[in-house]
Amino acid sequence: MTDNGVEVVNVPTMDYQLTVGAIARRAEALFGGRPVVARRGDGELHRTTWSAVLRRARQLARALRRLGVGPGDRVATLCWNHDRHVEAYFAIPLLGAVLHTLNLRLRPEELASIARHAEDRAVIVDASLLPLLAWFRERAGFQDVIVIGGDAAPADGLDYETLLAAETDGPLDAPEPGEWDAAAMCHTSGTTGRAKGVVYSHRALVLHSMATAMAGSFGISAADTVLAVIPMFHANAWGLPYTAALTGAALVLPGQRLDPASLLELSARERVSFSAGVPTVWLGVLERLDACPGQYDLGALRTIVIGGAAAPESLVRGLEERHGIPVLTSWGMTELAPVGTLGRLTPEGEALPTAERRALRMKAGAPGALLELRVRNEAGEVPWDGTTMGELEVRGAYVAAGYWRPEAGGGEFTADGWFRTGDIATIDGHGWLEIRDRTKDLVKSGGEWISSVALEGALMSHQAVLEAAVIAAPHPRWGERPLAAVVLREGRTATAAELLAFLGERFPRWWLPDEVVFVDAIPRTSTGKFSKSALRASLKLGGARPGGAG
Ligand code: ADP
Repeated sequence: MTDNGVEVVNVPTMDYQLTVGAIARRAEALFGGRPVVARRGDGELHRTTWSAVLRRARQLARALRRLGVGPGDRVATLCWNHDRHVEAYFAIPLLGAVLHTLNLRLRPEELASIARHAEDRAVIVDASLLPLLAWFRERAGFQDVIVIGGDAAPADGLDYETLLAAETDGPLDAPEPGEWDAAAMCHTSGTTGRAKGVVYSHRALVLHSMATAMAGSFGISAADTVLAVIPMFHANAWGLPYTAALTGAALVLPGQRLDPASLLELSARERVSFSAGVPTVWLGVLERLDACPGQYDLGALRTIVIGGAAAPESLVRGLEERHGIPVLTSWGMTELAPVGTLGRLTPEGEALPTAERRALRMKAGAPGALLELRVRNEAGEVPWDGTTMGELEVRGAYVAAGYWRPEAGGGEFTADGWFRTGDIATIDGHGWLEIRDRTKDLVKSGGEWISSVALEGALMSHQAVLEAAVIAAPHPRWGERPLAAVVLREGRTATAAELLAFLGERFPRWWLPDEVVFVDAIPRTSTGKFSKSALRASLKLGGARPGGAG
């Protein structure tokens, strides 16, 4: 009782630490028998369970401990999506060490610099990726190299299975990490500049998994079979291994077979109910489905999430209307663990007239739980009117508070504690986010902004267009003008004039590209997005632009 008679209740709940260990305990206690199915390096499908994966994760943790890995040490992985990679996802944080996923699509010199930046102590690598590792192993300075698959005794590395076989299942000889300790680390894919190191606390990973498991988000439960198409080296596969374990969902991992036919066969065979990936993957899947109607039984598939880049409307509608596959759009960033918003309609949204509902669904959607958005321009915070653009800022329970050993400069965090995303966006009256562009991809023509995302989406809705990317070309009078690079569908034709006329029905004249160039393919980034910097370089427009590294 205080002086004024108010009762003080200051021990309301237990101090239960939100750690990866808590996820593992729950999965083992309740969902141990649920399947984990993975395509391993030999191409065979390996069937196991959450219980076996987590037991082996503890064995791996003990083995790492024996090698001298301790709390706070960074342990890298250079692996495709498979069950042993999931073991590492749990083993390393269980030990209090930091899982650092390396992006196997990067160049060796980038990998060397990222591994050195993190000061990775050891690396767990797929045997099939040893030739890639050989290019940067010396420069990265790993003390231990642990090899998955291949020969039992690699010449200058430790065999993963031999290490595990030497360990019994027992308690770890290491202090339990706390929820604020670092559990994982991931470098941004560096689409617009140098890769930056993002560190996730145990707490952030747990809260992100809780938020994405919610019915208004991915809505994952023990009734689901989750296919992680998004690579485990890209922002923790959007948290899917942890979310599947937390909820008891079965987990399916495609290994290195990421071509549309393999993904579709796997989805049909395992009766996948949920999957997630970047638009370029689903563009390929849609093409395959269109080419082979009725070949794959996807009856169990209730949701695919398309995120990481803007989903063209033609893709969403093609999957939904021609193949009955429900799509959720999503915006996210490595810095957010990474899922930020989800385009899941509320009942009021569902009740809107078709055209309005469609337009709303194509937006990036509403923020996940424990995440807040605001948009600011030179005049301050913009109103939620769906039209005023500015830079998107976020704060929340799983947003990075800074970068790992940042370079001088920074500026990504505001004085009042929000993260500046570098994305140009609007927020509408429902609180729904629409990404209009990245600051570095916007075309600034005569002082006005032209959205490359909007032009690309429209071009890809033309029946002859397979892929399109719009970039800024320098212009003596206007500063910049849009240039469209287009890949035509096989057997289809369209002239530049036809495509411009098509765009002319949708956009003001001054938005229309000055030039349409036809190319064989749009270059991809290491995470499978369209790479505008590579496209600019290939069209001799210069890889970097003033005011931005992209
Ligand atoms: P990188 O910045 O190197 O591409 P990320 O994978 O973290 O690394 O990408 C985050 C960026 O991807 C966002 O800042 C945004 O520009 C883009 N992005 C993600 N989701 C969407 C989306 N739904 N629509 C448009 N852009 C998106």
